[in-house]
Amino acid sequence: MARFIFITGGVVSSLGKGLASAALGSLLQARGFSVRLRKLDPYLNVDPGTMSPFEHGEVFVTDDGAETDLDLGHYERFTGVAARKTDSVSSGRIYSNVLEKERRGDYLGKTIQVIPHVTNEIKDFIAIGEDEVDFMLCEIGGTVGDIEGLPFFEAIRQFAHDRPRGQCIFMHLTLLPYLAASGELKTKPTQHSVKELRSIGIAPDVLVCRSEHPIPEKEREKIGLFCNVRKDSVIAAYDLKSIYEAPLAYHREGLDQAVLDAFGISPAPRPNLSRWEDVMDRLVNAEGEVRVAIVGKYTQLEDAYKSIAEALTHGGMANRVRVRVEWVDAELFDREDPAPHLEGFHAILVPGGFGERGTEGKIKAAQFARERKIPYLGICLGMQMAVIEAARNVAGLATAGSEEFDHEAGKKRFEPVVYHLKEWVQGNYTVSRSVDDAKGGTMRLGAYSANLTEGSKVAEVYGATTIEERHRHRYEVDTKYRKALEEKGLCFSGMSPDGRLPEIVEWKDHPWFIGVQFHPELKSKPFEPHPLFADFVRAAVETSRLV
Ligand code: GLN
Repeated sequence: MARFIFITGGVVSSLGKGLASAALGSLLQARGFSVRLRKLDPYLNVDPGTMSPFEHGEVFVTDDGAETDLDLGHYERFTGVAARKTDSVSSGRIYSNVLEKERRGDYLGKTIQVIPHVTNEIKDFIAIGEDEVDFMLCEIGGTVGDIEGLPFFEAIRQFAHDRPRGQCIFMHLTLLPYLAASGELKTKPTQHSVKELRSIGIAPDVLVCRSEHPIPEKEREKIGLFCNVRKDSVIAAYDLKSIYEAPLAYHREGLDQAVLDAFGISPAPRPNLSRWEDVMDRLVNAEGEVRVAIVGKYTQLEDAYKSIAEALTHGGMANRVRVRVEWVDAELFDREDPAPHLEGFHAILVPGGFGERGTEGKIKAAQFARERKIPYLGICLGMQMAVIEAARNVAGLATAGSEEFDHEAGKKRFEPVVYHLKEWVQGNYTVSRSVDDAKGGTMRLGAYSANLTEGSKVAEVYGATTIEERHRHRYEVDTKYRKALEEKGLCFSGMSPDGRLPEIVEWKDHPWFIGVQFHPELKSKPFEPHPLFADFVRAAVETSRLV
């Protein structure tokens, strides 16, 4: 039977609740416990799949094909536990389940209310798979007091009330602002936040206080007294240079000990922190630097490519080198020659994306990388653009393009080298789709396996000939053009097991040019860098030595 840790936030948003949850998960693992992390988001979207990356950051995809909040990416990167569909839920999903049951008549004519119907739906969700782990960590999105969040707060209060004493604890994150004029850390916002929490029946067991300045002992005592939390359970969270410092930093501040104390687990198993010490060693003692350009569309918001940025950092750790990522707006190349913008980079990455805007620029970036023999990693749309580039500029198919852009424009302009997939096999099932399908949850989503050509670059990089990676796309490279492209040197070195869907392409006479239809970044971890990112950065290091 799992113990439950509910993580809430107050005062302001963006305090790093997700990171604190992930770091705590990893610390509990370091003490020998098994964990699972969950995110409960108050917004009304059914899932983040249809939310703009500009607004919400990247969509993180799980093996079982759920489109989830990017916090699940942090959870995976810190714990290595593969997230599932049942680890992320929003108010929208909860209400839509409740309404579906109501329509089906499951409630036998009862009046449907937030309490108990919505709260019960939330409680059922929290308990899914509780027998599988020692600790279930549930993070509630938003801050205490948000109207949308109320049903979630009420549900976790009830959940703890329903369970035997000691099975659930509450951890609350707040901010201690620093007033430069008086040179003081102010505790009042934290007091108010805890007061708000207690007014809805939740008393925090552990308080995590974000602060830019050291928290004096006296202030810690005051917070403890006013918020009714033990002094040792008032944990400082200072700004860190790297998110990967969080597990060791939180351990130093006593977070895991405070949590185990709150559960009355004594004696606490000793932690083995060697995994994180090694990660920090690789980060701190990196030698030299490589510059990688990410040529994309959502470049204003770094969170839009969160997992890619992290995977590149992991690739750097694998090679003990710093990776300096620079974001280049693909649309710039609609007007300008890419050369002056891309010269000087040791590698180029074109990430995933949707819609036509910026794609001509991505095609030019792929062409630049191919011609100049700069390492290139194309991910999803980045692979499709590399294939279009090859078709147009090497195989002589001047009008090559993707059906995606013709659909968007409502007219046919391109020879579809990349086409809309209508039917595919997922496990034992055939999935069918039409161009007019609703947008939410209708892509080829989640883990699919691929067979790699023996002797190919990717087979060497992976050290395997069958792999499994996560997907999120509607369009596919058409095998109709395979022969023509392979004759010119663009090898289709990874294919779906039925041989129908190209998963990987690579240029034969190029030091490192690989396009993948899937998202390898989603599976990379600091303590287990993804082989494609590790080798891509290695190739970048080699390029840096040439110049
Ligand atoms: N827009 C492309 C597709 O749907 C690529 C998607 C992506 O890059 N994730 O196939």
